[in-house]
Amino acid sequence: MGDYVWMDLKTGREFDVPIGAVVKLCDSGQIQVVDDEGNEHWIFPHNASHIKPMHPTSIHGVEDMIRLGDLNEAGILRNLLIRYREHLIYTYTGSILVAVNPYQLLPIYSPEQIRLYTNKKIGEMPPHIFAIADNCYYNMQRNNRDQCCIISGESGAGKTESTKLILQFLAAISGQHSWIEQQVLEANPILEAFGNAKTIRNDNSSRFGKYIDIHFNKRGAIEGAKIEQYLLEKSRVCRQAQDERNYHVFYCMLKGMTPEQKKKLGLGKATDYNYLAMGNCTTCDGRDDSKEYANIRSAMKVLMFTDTENWEISKLLAAILHMGNLRYEDHVFPNSCLCSVSISCMLLFHAQVDPQDVMNCLTSRTIITRGETVSTPLSMEQALDVRDAFVKGIYGRLFVWIVEKINAAIYRPPSHELQSVRRSIGLLDIFGFENFTVNSFEQLCINFANENLQQFFVRHVFKLEQEEYNLENINWQHIEFTDNQDALDMIAIKPMNIISLIDEESKFPKGTDTTMLHKLNSQHKLNTNYIPPKNNHETQFGINHFAGVVYYETKGFLEKNRDTLHGDIIQLVHSSKNKFIKQIFQADVAMGAETRKRSPTLSSQFKRSLELLMRTLSGCQPFFVRCIKPNEYKKPMLFDRELCVRQLRYSGMMETIRIRRAGYPIRYSFVEFVDRYRVLMPGVKPAYKQGDLRGTCQRIAEVVLGKDDDWQIGKTKIFLKDHHDMLLEIERDKAI
Ligand code: ADP
Ligand code: MG
Repeated sequence: MGDYVWMDLKTGREFDVPIGAVVKLCDSGQIQVVDDEGNEHWIFPHNASHIKPMHPTSIHGVEDMIRLGDLNEAGILRNLLIRYREHLIYTYTGSILVAVNPYQLLPIYSPEQIRLYTNKKIGEMPPHIFAIADNCYYNMQRNNRDQCCIISGESGAGKTESTKLILQFLAAISGQHSWIEQQVLEANPILEAFGNAKTIRNDNSSRFGKYIDIHFNKRGAIEGAKIEQYLLEKSRVCRQAQDERNYHVFYCMLKGMTPEQKKKLGLGKATDYNYLAMGNCTTCDGRDDSKEYANIRSAMKVLMFTDTENWEISKLLAAILHMGNLRYEDHVFPNSCLCSVSISCMLLFHAQVDPQDVMNCLTSRTIITRGETVSTPLSMEQALDVRDAFVKGIYGRLFVWIVEKINAAIYRPPSHELQSVRRSIGLLDIFGFENFTVNSFEQLCINFANENLQQFFVRHVFKLEQEEYNLENINWQHIEFTDNQDALDMIAIKPMNIISLIDEESKFPKGTDTTMLHKLNSQHKLNTNYIPPKNNHETQFGINHFAGVVYYETKGFLEKNRDTLHGDIIQLVHSSKNKFIKQIFQADVAMGAETRKRSPTLSSQFKRSLELLMRTLSGCQPFFVRCIKPNEYKKPMLFDRELCVRQLRYSGMMETIRIRRAGYPIRYSFVEFVDRYRVLMPGVKPAYKQGDLRGTCQRIAEVVLGKDDDWQIGKTKIFLKDHHDMLLEIERDKAI
C-alpha cells in the first residue's frame, strides 16, 4: 500500500502511454489503485502484468530528466505532469529546456527572480527560462562566441512569451537602461500589433516568423539588434475562419482613435467591416484593444515613427477596410459602393486618381497581345480576387516596411574595428509545425522550415556529437535516432525536389496546379516520404514529415507561389500622388512589367532566407527551448496526456534524453581546460609552458572530479557531463 506503480491500460491508442498510479488496497491478489488522473481501478491476478513498479525518481519527479530511472515516454510525461501540477513548468533535459505553458501568470518573473538567476550555472538553480538566458549571456562572454536560442513548439505552446522573457532578462542583466535597450524591447508591441491575431489555438498567435539578433558591445551591454521576419500570413487580412480575428492593429485602431481621427478616415466600428467581422468575433477576452492602441502608439514613438508616417499607415489600414466593403454586381459596383471606392481612392491615391479608373482596374484586365491593348471584363469572383490580391499586396508590403523602419532605429552596422569584439545572441521564434483539415502552400512552407530546424537539432544533438566521439576515439556506444534528412532532401535539397518543381511550374506560362501535381507524382511517387493522390481526381498529395503525415491541397498553389500583382494595379499605384503607398511599392514600380514576371517566387525567397538563417545558426552555440501546449482550451491546470505525448514524441525528446544521458555535452581542448582550471591544482603552469597537456588535464580532472567518475579524455579534448562543468566552475569561483 502506498506503493507507486505504472499501469498500462493497453488501449492501443497511438499516443496513449502507461499512467502512474498509487496502490490503495491489496487484498488476496486483487489490487485497487488510483491513477494520476484520480480514477480508481481494480487489478485482478490474471492481468497483473498491467502493472509494474515505479522507479523512485519518477515518484516525486526530477529537475533534469536525464536522471529519470524510468527512461520512457510514460516517465517523461509523468515527470512533466507532477511538476506542472505544482506550477513547476520548466524542466531540463541536460541543457535543453522543456517549458509547459501554464496559461496563467506565475510569480516567477520578478526582478528578484532575475537577480537570483544572474550569473549562475545551469543546475545551480531550479530550471527556468532565465537560466537559459543567463547561460547564453555567460557563454557568449566566456567563450567569446555568438549564441542562439531556438524556441520551438506548436501554435499556443508559449514560444513568443518565452522569447519575450529571454529578451527581458538580457535587457535587465546587460543593465544600462539605455535608450537603445528600450527601443529593442518596444519593437515587440509593434510587431505583434501588425503580425499577431486571435486564432482558435492562440489569442495572440504570431502569424509570421522572426529572428531577433541582439548585439552586445565588449562590456556586455546591448548596443543594438536586428530583426528578420519570415512569411507573414497575408491571407488573414482578407479572410478569417470562424471565431478568429484579423490582425490586432485594425481592432485597436477602431477602439483607440479619437472620433475626429476616425471621421477623417471615414471609419466606424469593427462590425461594419467585412474584413473584420467575417469570423463573427471582433473582441478578444483579456485584451483591451483601446489600451493596446495607446501602447502601440507610444512604442512607435520610441522607434522613431513620425506622426506623418503614423497617419499614412492609418490611412492605408482604413483604405483596406473600405476596400473590403466593396460589392460588385453585373460588372459594375452598385451605387452604395461608390462611397467605399471614393474614400479608398482618397486615402490610397490622394484622390488624384479617378474612382472610375480604380473601378475599371478592379473589374477588367488589360492584356497586351501582338502590340494591341485589349481590355476584358472580369467575373465577379475574379474581380473580388483582384481586390483581395491588392489588399494583401498593400498589407504585406506595409509589414515589411514596418520591420525595416524598426531596424533602421535599432540596427547599428558594425564598424570595422568593432566587428571583432561585438557578440550577439539570436532568438528564433518561428511558427511551429502545422497540420490542419485543409493544408495549402503556406503550410508547406511552414513545415519545410520546421524540417530544417529539426535537422539542425538532430545534427547538433545526435550526428555531430557522435561523429566527434568517434573522431576522438573515446568509449562510446552508438545511439539510434530518427533522422529527417531524407524528407528534407525530397522537399528542398536534391535535384527535382518538391519546392523546385513547384517553382518551375510557377514560372512556366502554361503551368497549372494540375500539371504541377503530375510532375510531383512522376518524380516522387516511389519516395517513401511522398504520398501520391489516390486517383486522378484527387488534388492533394501527402508528405511524411518528422512530425507526422500532412496532406496538401494543391488548388491555388501556383497563384500563391507566384505572388504577383497584376500590371494594372502597379500602374495605378504608380500614378498615385500618395508618396507613402508609392514608397512601399517602390521595388515593384521600379521593376517594370517584364522583370516583374520573372521576379523571385515566394518559395524561392523563403528558401533563400531559410538558408541564410541556417547558416547564421550554424555559426552559433545553440540552446534549445521546447515549448509544450498542455491543452487545446487555453486553460490553466489542465494537462491533456495524449496531446503532450504527441508533442514529446515528435520533438524527439526520448532520444534526446537518451543521448544526453549517455553523452558528454561539455568539452574543452586541453589548452582551454588547463588554462581555465589550473587554479584548482596548486603549482600547475599555464598551458604554453606544459610539455604533456593531456596528462595535466587528466591529473586535474582526477583530483577535482574523481578518478572513477564518467568523464573521458580523447585525442585533443576532454569530455564532461553538465554536472562536471558546474562543479568545476563552482570550485574555480571559490579559488579565484
Ligand atoms: P506561441 O508563440 O507558441 O504560439 P504564445 O507565446 O503566444 O504561443 O503563448 C500563448 C499564450 O499562452 C500567451 O498569450 C499567454 O496567455 C500564455 N502563456 C505562454 N507562456 C506563458 C508563461 N510563461 N506564463 C504565462 N502565460 C503564458
Ligand atoms: Mg507566437
